[in-house]
Amino acid sequence: MAGRNFLFVPGPSNVPDRILRSMLVPMEDHRSAAFPELALACLNGLKTLFKTTTGSPLIFPSSGTGCWEAALTNCLNPGDRVLIARFGQFSHLWADMSTRLGFEVEILETPWGDGAPIDRYQAALRADKEHKIKAVLFCQNETATGVTSDVAAMRKALDGAAHPALLFVDSVSALASIDFRMDEWGVDVCVSGSQKGLMLPAGLGITCVSAKALAAARSATARRCYFDYADMVKSNATGYFPYTPTIPMLCGLRESLAMLNEEGLENVFHRHHYLASGVRAAVLQGWKLKLCASAPHWHSDTVSAIMLPDGIDGAALIAHAFKRYNLSLGAGLSKVAGKLFRIGHLGDLNELMLLGAIAGSEMAMQDVGMKLEPGSGIAAAQNYWRTHSPGAAAKDRAA
Ligand SMILES: *Cc1c(COP(=O)(O)O)cnc(C)c1O
Repeated sequence: MAGRNFLFVPGPSNVPDRILRSMLVPMEDHRSAAFPELALACLNGLKTLFKTTTGSPLIFPSSGTGCWEAALTNCLNPGDRVLIARFGQFSHLWADMSTRLGFEVEILETPWGDGAPIDRYQAALRADKEHKIKAVLFCQNETATGVTSDVAAMRKALDGAAHPALLFVDSVSALASIDFRMDEWGVDVCVSGSQKGLMLPAGLGITCVSAKALAAARSATARRCYFDYADMVKSNATGYFPYTPTIPMLCGLRESLAMLNEEGLENVFHRHHYLASGVRAAVLQGWKLKLCASAPHWHSDTVSAIMLPDGIDGAALIAHAFKRYNLSLGAGLSKVAGKLFRIGHLGDLNELMLLGAIAGSEMAMQDVGMKLEPGSGIAAAQNYWRTHSPGAAAKDRAA
């Protein structure tokens, strides 16, 4: 098919040409005296991204899921209890992994479309007088429903309950797009990956571990080997890895971190909010559809999950958009399969790229029989972007 594929799934995101070019490198000796320059550029750049001075960023050859496993198996003992709110496919999968790895999982069932219920987390922590809960698992951005939750409030709830549990945060679809503050929010393990806000192919598990988590890992007895934090920390200290790292991915990561730094992290967050607001204008004002997120304060700046009317099959819509218009949209997962479609708006994006996704979605929706005012989504998004600037959007949000 002529022309570019329009990739608007919420990961993998579009890889900028500059990053692609940076990855086209010959292999080199990862034990050479020159290698630490690349490794340390990545690790130091990640410290800025995670907003940490005391935490240790670690890079595993995996996707984000590997870092979920690393968090659980490094910091906990077999049979330890973890607490997690389940409100989408990703929080579900982390809970499921915890069970499968032999941990005891206390689940706060939460309607899909809502965010993390901080008060219920706190009530469960207060009720746990013997401090059996060893870790709180928290999904900052539930990619299945397009819902962002408040990590700072979770930290306050832990402190308010005077509970010593570790705080593990899934920031796979938030990091480098939505604000994240490792130190200020007292996060013990942040889990992310390369193929979302970092604008890289999948293949790196990107995580950050607090001093408290590393201390817990020293005595924790759950089995781990390949994902052992201690091995990684020890090698990283001199700029190396315990096993062969993927050099093109590290070159790409170094370039990605440089690009984020050039734009300025706060500007990156503002841009995501501004672009997301235009997409939401298309959905809500233009098409008069609903988002899966049940209230505006849950709206995610990296992905919009758009509810479809009864009788419209989301899977058929997505298949049609791909086949007819070369547009890749995100599907509804598990509980919401067929009921919604998702537009990912994270990473290397601007207004006109998103207008392509909105136009293609609009055509596909009409083709499968939805009654929409032609051009209504595009007009609403154009209007939003024409009357706001990325900087102004940030001020709106603060107000
Ligand atoms: C994408 C995603 C994951 C899974 O990450 P992989 O890199 O696919 O292993 C986990 N959590 C959230 C919130 C995600 O968006």
